[in-house]
Amino acid sequence: MKEVVLNPEREFSVARRHPWIFSGAVAAVKGDPEPGETVRVVSAAGKVLGAGSYSPESQIRVRMWTFSEDTDVDRALVRGRVARAIGVRAVLLAEASTDAFRLINAEADGMPGVIVDRYGEWLVCQFTTAGAEYWKSVIVEALQTYMPCRGIYERSEADTRKFEGLADAAGLLAGEMPPERIEITEHGCRYLVDIRGGQKTGFYLDQRDNRRTVALYANGGEVLNAFSYTGGFGVAALNAGARSVTHVDISEPALTMARENTLLNVCDLACSEFIRGKVFEVLRKFRDRGRLFDMVILDPPKFAESKGSLMKAARGYKDINLLGLKLLRPGGVLATFSCSGRMTPELFQKVVADAAVDARRDVQLTMRMQQSTDHPQSLCFPEGLYLKGLLCRVW
Ligand code: SAH
Repeated sequence: MKEVVLNPEREFSVARRHPWIFSGAVAAVKGDPEPGETVRVVSAAGKVLGAGSYSPESQIRVRMWTFSEDTDVDRALVRGRVARAIGVRAVLLAEASTDAFRLINAEADGMPGVIVDRYGEWLVCQFTTAGAEYWKSVIVEALQTYMPCRGIYERSEADTRKFEGLADAAGLLAGEMPPERIEITEHGCRYLVDIRGGQKTGFYLDQRDNRRTVALYANGGEVLNAFSYTGGFGVAALNAGARSVTHVDISEPALTMARENTLLNVCDLACSEFIRGKVFEVLRKFRDRGRLFDMVILDPPKFAESKGSLMKAARGYKDINLLGLKLLRPGGVLATFSCSGRMTPELFQKVVADAAVDARRDVQLTMRMQQSTDHPQSLCFPEGLYLKGLLCRVW
């Protein structure tokens, strides 16, 4: 088998079961592996540390599939991983009030770069790395065996593919072509999802449990759903008894779908407002006009793309939270999120606390939130926890 030999001073993290080997940790590559091919990973002293997929173009040169001395990453192992990932979601599969969730969550399910989401009878895959791409057909075949469905669609359009030397890919992989809109149920709420044209694989499934939690606190209040996408949090809040919801997003197609999702759940648009614009600008206008809410939800896109931009991102999070706090009536609820992997939960809490100081408000932390249970993390891979949120009462 082809082999990657590590620098002695960089073996530590693989020994700690961290799945990424950066280019600087590689001392030698033996056998000229092709992109995505499995390589055995060995220490400078010749100890076998496991095996992973090789990616010649990426800074992350190897992504580990196994830390075992048995380094056969083959068809049987990959099929076994697919079956295992589906198996641990048995609880979700049995839940009648929800039919959309993540089936395979990359590194956390022992399949680096492989994401598979289930939307009712349809599956959507994202293969973000050379290794994931290498095993694509085996994975699609395994999905057909272990999770029979009407069709499997590909949305491999992640930024990371560029770094892996891969072009974007989208289209039907198996079965029937999915319709333009699929209806899903999430904790009893109904949503339309555009898996062919929507953001990511169509819906932000990682917020599923948080949408339910946050909605419980909306009772009877006026809700601002900033960065609404297709209405997720706001529609859940309306279903749970919110008096009104104001959705703000920059994307017109997202807002169109937010309207449709509102109609699907509460039959009219009387209590809903849909504002297309930049959240910073819209919230500043609300502040200047003295408009107030009982709940403010802030779920922005990733602000911190790289280590270097983390401080800039922290300022962005602080500014948006400062604005959000100013729009809350005393006793109101702030539900604020960060999906930047580089922003740790501790730093995020500090940033929101800084905003509270500047806003001169007392803020009680009611609950810490994170990505839903179908997006597990490997304990040895802290980067896997990317979504964190704070549910706060603001005085
Ligand atoms: N809360 C949503 C997911 C939000 S994803 C849910 O539960 O489904 C982030 C959203 O922010 C996207 O819909 C994107 O279109 C929007 N967005 C990005 N930058 C924005 C900006 N500056 N102003 C308003 N919306 C923005």
